[in-house]
Amino acid sequence: MKDITTRYTNGEITVVWKPALCTHSRRCFTGLPDVFDPRKRPWVTVAGATTERIVEQIHQCPSGALSYFRNDAVTAE
Ligand code: SF4
Repeated sequence: MKDITTRYTNGEITVVWKPALCTHSRRCFTGLPDVFDPRKRPWVTVAGATTERIVEQIHQCPSGALSYFRNDAVTAE
């Protein structure tokens, strides 16, 4: 599989998605369906929840397919 990485940002954080790592555990879209919905394109809607809630859900991804970084940490470098 190609090493694809997509990013979605709400201005505060950037959600990073690496589909090749996904083990299809479904935790993201059962835990936070307003943000993660594989039926939609794009499948990540960062406006669907607060930054804190999105971060909390990303921490529950067992594979590392979902990760994030804070945008101010990048611009401060
Ligand atoms: S929680 Fe992670 S491993 Fe599970 S479906 Fe979502 S992205 Fe894939």
